[in-house]
Amino acid sequence: MTGHLPDYQIYAIRHGVNTVRIRAQNFINDPDPAALLQMDFYSWVLVGPDRTVVVDTGMKVETAARYGHTPVMAPPEALAQLGIDPASVDTVLLTHAHYDHVGHIDAFPQARFWMQAREMAYVTGPWMEHALFRHAYLAPDIAALVGLLHAGRLHLHGPDAGVAPGVTVHWVGGHCDGQEIVRVHTARGWVVLASDALHYFEELERGKPYAVAFNISDMIAAHGRIRELADSDDHIVPAHDPRVADLWPAAGPGLDGRILRVDVAPVAAGS
Ligand SMILES: [Zn+2]
Repeated sequence: MTGHLPDYQIYAIRHGVNTVRIRAQNFINDPDPAALLQMDFYSWVLVGPDRTVVVDTGMKVETAARYGHTPVMAPPEALAQLGIDPASVDTVLLTHAHYDHVGHIDAFPQARFWMQAREMAYVTGPWMEHALFRHAYLAPDIAALVGLLHAGRLHLHGPDAGVAPGVTVHWVGGHCDGQEIVRVHTARGWVVLASDALHYFEELERGKPYAVAFNISDMIAAHGRIRELADSDDHIVPAHDPRVADLWPAAGPGLDGRILRVDVAPVAAGS
């Protein structure tokens, strides 16, 4: 029984979009490599009865431009829309350190950040000698993480960690060596924010690896771990799939396509 655990609301913030991406950029050996497949960019905020936890911080406008993406809504601005002052947030989870997940850490001056120790070892270790593995990391972001560590504001934890009652993080690796997923207790049970362990639902549905990979076997094994931790496939939320905005409702009037409620049950578009 998990009835004693708090129920969190989960808000997904759609902070960017790329409408010109093709399938070959997303999947290895895709049968239709030249077809377009839009990429959306999400971060999340968990709102419980007595605490708020931010999961990933999105990317800066200039970073989006550098990588050819279009900004939609900066996560700090989205938090303000939800009545949350970023300066008051005390807990920020970083699922990994790619540029589209750690861009706004400076918007949370009071926060303690959490990340897999393995991710810090990866982004400051010998694999970064290879352009293949470092291309989605920005050196200033990594330097900022080192700064947080030495300021006593970055908790580098082991594979599985409890953040708060009803919120746990779990290492899966694959996409990068320190990729983690986040399990959140909600009114309808355990939801898993898969972050970049699933860019698209297709990966889970077809057992496909995403094209940006550190370790493909860990990436495929992650699919099983995600399913172990989520109450059903309807409790799994990927980080970059445009289907997310069709499946889950806007968090309020005027927030369509920008802030969604992903703790509630998904519904098909138009239903
Ligand atoms: Zn990402």
